[in-house]
Amino acid sequence: MYYLRDFVSKQTVNPTNMVFTGETTPWEVVMDLDDIKSKLNLEYFRQSPPSILKYLPLLPIKNQADFITLRESATPLIRARKLGRSLGIDLMLKVEGKNPTGSFKDRGTAVEISVAREMGAKAIILASTGNMAASCACYASAAGIPCFILVPEGVPPGKLSQVLAFGGHIVQVKGTYNDAADLAYKIASEMGFYLAGDYAFRLEGAKTAAFEIIDQMLFQVPDYLVVPIGCGTNIGGYYKGFMDYYRLGLIDRLPRIIGVQAEGAKSVVNSFEQKRNEIDILPSINTLASAIAVANPIDGLKALEAINSTNGYAASVTDNEILAAQHLLAKGEGVFAESSAAATIAAIQKLISQGKIEAHKKVMCILTGDGLKDPQVVLKAAIKPPTIYPKTTEFNKLYQNGFFDGKSMVFVEKSDVLFTTEPSKSDIVRELQNLLSATYADDYVEKIHSSLIKMVQKGKIITISDFQDSIQSVLESPKNITAKDVFSVVDFTVDTAKDKKAKASVIVNIDGQEYTAKSEGTGPVDALIKALTHACRDTLEFKLTEYKVEIRGQGTDANVYVEMKLQQGTHSSIGSGTSPDIIQASIEAFAGAYNGFNLV
Ligand SMILES: *Cc1c(COP(=O)(O)O)cnc(C)c1O
Repeated sequence: MYYLRDFVSKQTVNPTNMVFTGETTPWEVVMDLDDIKSKLNLEYFRQSPPSILKYLPLLPIKNQADFITLRESATPLIRARKLGRSLGIDLMLKVEGKNPTGSFKDRGTAVEISVAREMGAKAIILASTGNMAASCACYASAAGIPCFILVPEGVPPGKLSQVLAFGGHIVQVKGTYNDAADLAYKIASEMGFYLAGDYAFRLEGAKTAAFEIIDQMLFQVPDYLVVPIGCGTNIGGYYKGFMDYYRLGLIDRLPRIIGVQAEGAKSVVNSFEQKRNEIDILPSINTLASAIAVANPIDGLKALEAINSTNGYAASVTDNEILAAQHLLAKGEGVFAESSAAATIAAIQKLISQGKIEAHKKVMCILTGDGLKDPQVVLKAAIKPPTIYPKTTEFNKLYQNGFFDGKSMVFVEKSDVLFTTEPSKSDIVRELQNLLSATYADDYVEKIHSSLIKMVQKGKIITISDFQDSIQSVLESPKNITAKDVFSVVDFTVDTAKDKKAKASVIVNIDGQEYTAKSEGTGPVDALIKALTHACRDTLEFKLTEYKVEIRGQGTDANVYVEMKLQQGTHSSIGSGTSPDIIQASIEAFAGAYNGFNLV
């Protein structure tokens, strides 16, 4: 029914062990299309609705009744009217993020895990930190096969929460991603586990998306198909799927296929531009679009074939172009795609402006993953929402001042320097306009001003990222316009040394009266908060119930954001502060929270 061959040499390969095939160069599955055609009722096939089960005869599955499926596929195809009109094309979106685990990977995983079970694999193993891991853990659990995921040490656990939910066994490996991948390969070979990943069977699952697009478009072919390239398996799958349909006589031409990579990981684009038919391994990669951050794409040659034999293009886009496109798509069309997927939108904007995609063409962008997969990327670019006291006057102040007319996202190089010396208030007004097209009320500008001045006094050079932090903390800690602040810290000292308790002393001003207090603590922040609490004890009875710290930016001079919640009876008040100095940020947060009680 099918055989395996080497993709480059086209030599048949005959692995003796089908659980662990040891594929190190790309292979391909060759299906007997003449045989399939003779058995299919093509008229019936043409008329039946798209579904993974419909495509089973075109997949390398021996026992179709045992196919493991969670109804991946049949994902929405949406016409992006507004965005299409503004670009002068007929733009369609294939929303692959609507698959069971939120990415197109599920199509390939369904086939891979079904094959693994058919061959009697006792476990699945793979190295991955992303969508592949989530998808394999999901389908392995559906198949009742244990799944081992090897990740390099230090991967944020949030990225693997889906794997944990599906009961996947995660093991952290000391070393890089490549060390984890090498180990997965060795374990699979020694223990007889099925090595999952971008191998030949996965591509067979991926190709069902091409069938589906043609079915959903009632056998019309789009003019351009735009796909992000990571390892190149998905784009290779599209090409193969269209070729299958072409050879079955279901379509009479192929779309021109456009592959998209991030500027910081453009191995295939390099080869395309140099008209070479080999892929260089990149010495380093740098992009926030993590699903396409690949140095050595195993199916890079399949990606090149898809592009070159359909007279397509390979294009690269910058991270900021990707983020802006992601926002444009979500805001303009209501479709929230993962950054790697939104790269397709950034690419067509570029290709249209270069005249490489002509007006009125039917363009299909493949949105490979759901935006919810990586909310951190969005949060980094966003100005988070402001906090106000519960008064209509406060809301009106934002509304009337045009606060909501400004941008809520910043897509610029965050490390660019904005101020090296103390900025004036008009400098701040100007930069707010430049960066956010925003006009803020005077009291906001004043607070941003004083927070920046404090940073400069601490010796910090103000970058765009610092500016954003200070806007952020001002928006999050509202100025109480109806009550005057009663609490402020006049001065403090903190002493800390190796293996000793930390000591803090504070002078605070409460309603015009000064109080001093001292305290010890297990660390400097603990000592300080105890001293502050001590100093306030006679004026207000409260408890510290939450203390949250977030490092914003990189390096030892990064801004620290502190949020603190004080509880007084049933009332609570949250304060926040931002400073390169955690103690100073804690003091601001404390003052904000304390003054918040004034309203109630
Ligand atoms: C895996 C992945 C890609 C890259 O696909 P390849 O088959 O590796 O080229 C792109 N986008 C998302 C969301 C992915 O999960």
